[in-house]
Amino acid sequence: MIGRRIVRGGTVVTTELRRTADVVIEDGRIAAVEPSLARDSDAREIDARGLLVLPGVVDVHTHTRVASADEPDRFFQDSVAAAFGGTTTFLAFNNPGTGSPRTGSLVEDVARWRAATDGDSAVDYALSLVITPQEPGAVAELAAVIEAGVPTFKAFMVYDFGLPERAIERLLRAAGEGGGMLEVHCEDRAALEANTARLLAAGRTAPRFHAESRPPVVEAAGTRRAIAMARDAGVSLYIVHLSCAAALEEVRRARDAGQEVYAETCPHYLSLDESRYELPDEQCACYVISPPLRATSDRDALWAGLADGWLSLVATDHVPDRRSVEKQGWRESFDRISNGGPGIETLLSVVYSEGVAKGRITIERMVDLLSTTPARLFGLQGKGAIEVGRDADLVLFDPAERRTLTERELHHTSDYTPYEGMAVAGAVVSTLVRGEDVIHRGRFVGRRGHGRFQERRLV
Ligand code: MN
Ligand code: MN
Repeated sequence: MIGRRIVRGGTVVTTELRRTADVVIEDGRIAAVEPSLARDSDAREIDARGLLVLPGVVDVHTHTRVASADEPDRFFQDSVAAAFGGTTTFLAFNNPGTGSPRTGSLVEDVARWRAATDGDSAVDYALSLVITPQEPGAVAELAAVIEAGVPTFKAFMVYDFGLPERAIERLLRAAGEGGGMLEVHCEDRAALEANTARLLAAGRTAPRFHAESRPPVVEAAGTRRAIAMARDAGVSLYIVHLSCAAALEEVRRARDAGQEVYAETCPHYLSLDESRYELPDEQCACYVISPPLRATSDRDALWAGLADGWLSLVATDHVPDRRSVEKQGWRESFDRISNGGPGIETLLSVVYSEGVAKGRITIERMVDLLSTTPARLFGLQGKGAIEVGRDADLVLFDPAERRTLTERELHHTSDYTPYEGMAVAGAVVSTLVRGEDVIHRGRFVGRRGHGRFQERRLV
């Protein structure tokens, strides 16, 4: 029982404004947000003077791995990393080949995934289901899975577990009509495969050719196709990890025409660029991510898209691959390198520092992009805003702090950070999940199992 707490004197930020206010927490929920509340001898006080009080970050795109016999702490440890970064709820995907149980049945996969993660997380979490050719009965099972609180699904246009267009069309329709939403990894499969074959045949196997195999035109073509399929089906569409101006232009055109298309981008596209592919091969492999890092002009277009609303949110696409393990595929060829990079701990840091501190977006917009919109779009009604009745998921953030991101000080289960050496403005001081301290003044004080699985409903 945590009783009553008051977060005193901080600058509380919403999507609309920031103001000095006290936040009263009762039974893990926000009970009041008022300026200058009277002292209350029954309440435990948290001094937030000089700090920003933000709603906990909701990261809707992670590939956090479930625990295994060899790595019993994998899920827990990444949840601790999330907490250090101010993320109070994360959504995980059950990608093939990453240790998540796959049975051929979506209903059974949800049950097994929940069992495999139960009692393991320090912060709240939820599941989005990846649908592959291994689940041929997926359409028939969607209603049951949505009923079980898992209303978002992801389909890939590429990779060996990608789906053919007809299957994506059927899933879009079934999800949209059944109260769910399909997330699509948009890349043109034919173009990608042709590029890859051409490069490999020419002996261009080094990691940097990964980026050459997936230029912006490949992503834009996939994005255009997914948008057309969703339009024909008359349903909403969610586009994951949009990375470039050309794909953003497809989204802008669709949204301009009134289509319900949402797109996320990721911190690495907002802060890094293709010059990383000039690094020596082994370091270069750490930036093998799909889509790849782009030109600085793409990066600038993404920031503009976030500021003006064409992009809906930022999520990490966290993949806790290790340089010493999964990234070693570079020794064979670029198409053998596991795709992705870690980011679960650095989302707020990168977006605050590169976005707010550099004047590209306002802090109110940041709160919308990292908390309020992801919670709303993904059916987490109790999350995403500092409002009476919502969960007291709070981040106390010191905007005056300066630090350098480095693997040595991070807690995720990868063994590198793409942001090594990056100087950032601001730092998470404390993180509360449903009113309980998980990070207190920079130290982990939470516990394994405090995090609860979130059954979601899209509204
Ligand atoms: Mn993807
Ligand atoms: Mn992903």
